[in-house]
Amino acid sequence: MKKIAIIGGGAAGMACAVHLLRAGREVVLLERGGRLGRKLSATGNGQGNVTNTDCSAAHYFSDDRRKVGRILSRFGSKETVGFLESMGGIFLPDARGRVYPAGRQASAVTDLFRAELESLGADICLGTQVQKIAYDGAFTLGWEGGHMRADAVVLAAGGKAAPNFGTDGSAYALAQTFGHTLTPLSPALVRLKSDPALVRALKGIRIDASLKVLRQGSICFECRGDVLFTENGVSGDAVFRASSYAKKGDTLEIDFVPDVEEERLQRAIETSGGSLLCIVPNGLGRALLKRAECGHGTLVSLLKKFTLPVLGDCGFENAQVTKGGIPLLETDENLQSVKRQGLFFAGEILNVDGECGGYNLQWAFASAHAAAEGILQC
Ligand SMILES: Cc1cc2nc3c(=O)[nH]c(=O)nc-3n(C[C@H](O)[C@H](O)[C@H](O)COP(=O)(O)OP(=O)(O)OC[C@H]3O[C@@H](n4cnc5c(N)ncnc54)[C@H](O)[C@@H]3O)c2cc1C
Repeated sequence: MKKIAIIGGGAAGMACAVHLLRAGREVVLLERGGRLGRKLSATGNGQGNVTNTDCSAAHYFSDDRRKVGRILSRFGSKETVGFLESMGGIFLPDARGRVYPAGRQASAVTDLFRAELESLGADICLGTQVQKIAYDGAFTLGWEGGHMRADAVVLAAGGKAAPNFGTDGSAYALAQTFGHTLTPLSPALVRLKSDPALVRALKGIRIDASLKVLRQGSICFECRGDVLFTENGVSGDAVFRASSYAKKGDTLEIDFVPDVEEERLQRAIETSGGSLLCIVPNGLGRALLKRAECGHGTLVSLLKKFTLPVLGDCGFENAQVTKGGIPLLETDENLQSVKRQGLFFAGEILNVDGECGGYNLQWAFASAHAAAEGILQC
């Protein structure tokens, strides 16, 4: 394939472009925004959690998780770190396997890509929103005031989450031109809404807790991590993980002291004459004491089983990723469309979303590699 157009200059599009340019291919990278990698620069609270040392398919949701596993086995976290370090920098895991640039700056990862693309002589068209795509033996891509021809196209235009980074879901229509379908879309890795009356007093408190999602009394998900209380709900990495499972009508059960048994808590509370000092942060302690005084449970039950109703999620605007997308079953092992030869997919546009912890960028890099390999084999 001679000329390759990549639609979307995010993590997946930039990675795919680097692979293809290094292999000597002619690549045009089309990005609707004024800069490449805007979302990548915001990842990991600005620190750039680029992958995870344990990146098995079990951490992903998809219509074809086995294919996700096969693609990750070709390009896993070691390969991602090797690939990124081949452009420069040092990438290190933390105690939970989350890999970050040693300088803990996501924008520096984007800068590595920009520098590499520049040194490879990439043809980058910014401010170019591809609106039409057609095929008549080759692809024609159209945008306001311009068009181009290409022998292969990689659709790496992201999903619907965080539309302020250029991803409002309008790019799905480009795939639908060729008869692709879409699985239902919903926000994932997103804050959950709860009763403001219950959470407002706790606003701003962040705590390492154990979190359960209960549906009709049964546990449907459980994890340990940060829970952050907001004006109208809960956030934090434990909540983001739980958001892939929690639905409106479920209950969140929070254990604020997961490393301490109930008897020891009871003894400590009695010793101090009913205070929670040195057990939980003071702000949380004061709020729980108030709730106990109002008859909402004993202190121990509020510490170990604090419940909140799930009233919904905070929408695509606040989500990190999109659940749903182009079904993997409509692609081959290199993510080439089974409906239109020469059309490839990479990144979040596909029906693959990962847990919180570097899994989504890992997918962007692994899928970009698969698409590039597919093109190089044609
Ligand atoms: C705040 C935030 C924090 C995150 N933190 C992490 C993290 O720490 N670790 C992790 O693994 N994941 C994280 N994610 C998720 C991760 O950023 C995404 O999964 C990843 O960026 C997806 O890469 P992508 O290239 O598929 O899509 P994107 O990065 O969304 O890039 C798609 C690009 O395509 C462009 N585009 C769209 N339509 C068109 C069009 N028609 N023509 C031309 N260009 C188009 C868009 O402008 C965009 O630049 C985070 C997401 C957010 C929002």
